[in-house]
Amino acid sequence: MSSEVRTRFAPSPTGYLHVGGARTALFNWLFARNHLGKFILRIEDTDKKRNTAEAYQVIYDGLSWLGLDWDEGPHVGGNFGPYFQSERNSIYENYLNRLEKNGVLYEDEGAIRFRSPRKTVIVEDMVCGRVIFDMSHPGTHPDMTLRRPDGTWIFHFVNVVDDIEMKISHVIRGEDHLSNTPKHIELYEALGAPRPRFAHIPLILNHEGKKLSKRDGGASVDTYRADGYAPEAVINYLSLLGWSPGENREILKVPEILELFDIQSINRRNAIFDLDKCFWMNGQHILRMTLDRFAELALPFIEKAGVAYGSRERLLPVLAIVKEKIKVFRDVPEWIRYFFTEEFVIDPAAVENTLRKAGALDRLKALRDSYQALETWDLHHLESRLKETATQIGCKTGDLIHPARVAVSGRSVGPSLYHMLEILGQKSVLNRFEKTFRQFSL
Ligand code: GLU
Repeated sequence: MSSEVRTRFAPSPTGYLHVGGARTALFNWLFARNHLGKFILRIEDTDKKRNTAEAYQVIYDGLSWLGLDWDEGPHVGGNFGPYFQSERNSIYENYLNRLEKNGVLYEDEGAIRFRSPRKTVIVEDMVCGRVIFDMSHPGTHPDMTLRRPDGTWIFHFVNVVDDIEMKISHVIRGEDHLSNTPKHIELYEALGAPRPRFAHIPLILNHEGKKLSKRDGGASVDTYRADGYAPEAVINYLSLLGWSPGENREILKVPEILELFDIQSINRRNAIFDLDKCFWMNGQHILRMTLDRFAELALPFIEKAGVAYGSRERLLPVLAIVKEKIKVFRDVPEWIRYFFTEEFVIDPAAVENTLRKAGALDRLKALRDSYQALETWDLHHLESRLKETATQIGCKTGDLIHPARVAVSGRSVGPSLYHMLEILGQKSVLNRFEKTFRQFSL
């Protein structure tokens, strides 16, 4: 029973889920899932002032969006609850009494403090290796407070009590907690409780080498959701902050990460956060995902933008041709809107660079004539007819492709022209050409 792997993520409801926290949650989740153990969510909400309903919700939403499901904790319960520190007061009182009986507490101006045994504490860390802390000097290691004069608890104490009570086997957390660990070990010993294994994972720094803060772009998990990242891409990116599967492997699906993840291969070097890399990785995941998954992730953005796509049958072929161009889902509506309406926005710069070029409208008229006569409206015929027209009037294919693209979409970038034209259909394409002639002829 005691050999069961039990890990936990223990965030404080600060109002946002930091990517560092999400990465900690991920490593705990991976380790638990790999060892067929349990992953527990515990909310460290002893600081009442900061706790708002939204602050809790941000944690649940962030973890759920990333797919980091917890086996015990808020909403799901479990045998070791409550999973909110604010509801565990009587448990802490009991533990405090035990320490009191052991004669290791004393009062100091209303606060309750723990008398350090003043020994050397050795932490055998799964990532950092053996770390030795000399706790003998009160000057550098004052006796820690467990409870403040106002009755509120100090983090170290309740954190350790909960890890004991919740039978946590492995404490995986940020390296900023390594220096707290000897204090925690003193408490385990004073309580006669076995200590868990510790694994302190490297910090995440910004480009200036400072700890990634709330102000740094991409520091908060909810922004990824809003900007249209795929959760599996964010998981992939987070997994590589401090860990590497070796062999230069980078683009990994969640099941692959699960298979390859191993605490021993977490490195000690601090990780540098690079939002551009995450953005690139998202595009790579999009390239590799199925059309169904793409549609699932794109739909909320399409709906929100009010694109009247009619039906899934009409939408899917359009998504299929833009998919490879999309880097974040937020961009999908502008890439597809013109397929479903004649009232699309025309980019003035695109007009300037194509339709306003000398002879552009005449060339487009030649293309109109040849497309008007086209009997089979498919990719192959659209392409060969355009090339023939270019040869006939003596221009490059690009001199037809670019104006045609702007005429039918209002944009200078988009999916392959022939695919666009095929989906739009002959009637709509010819209409859009006519409209262009009316609008842009001198
Ligand atoms: N609430 C602490 C934090 O957010 C938990 C630390 C730990 O994992 O032990 O940093």
